Amino acid sequence: MAEGCIFCRIVAGEIPAVRVAESERALAFRDLHPQAPVHVLVIPRRHVASLAEATDGEELGAVLLLAQEVARREGIAESGYRVVTNTGADGGQTVHHLHLHVLGGRALQWPPG
Ligand code: 5GP
Ligand code: ZN
Repeated sequence: MAEGCIFCRIVAGEIPAVRVAESERALAFRDLHPQAPVHVLVIPRRHVASLAEATDGEELGAVLLLAQEVARREGIAESGYRVVTNTGADGGQTVHHLHLHVLGGRALQWPPG
């Protein structure tokens, strides 16, 4: 657990979050400020600051597979969805614990701003 990391605190249960799916290595919960009808964050349980710092392919695979499960559970697997991980300053990352945004439930614009 990284000192002061809000997502580590969510993993530890110290900060409440609406959990939608879990696996041994990953956790999925609703974004506090949803940008689409479905907006779920999927994170590794272990602290990894961003995709740039990731080294464990099995852990990354577990996070991606949980994102896929979230899409099924949320009923957007057929209609389609987007998985995004903002990385670093230009990527717009604000929480420095690796997370995938799973967005769906409406037609999403491309390219993003
Ligand atoms: P980023 O900008 O780093 O890609 O995304 C961080 C996301 O985390 C944002 O969409 C923001 O709404 C969400 N977020 C920030 N703090 C919390 C929190 O305490 N709980 C939850 N559920 N989401 C959070
Ligand atoms: Zn963390």
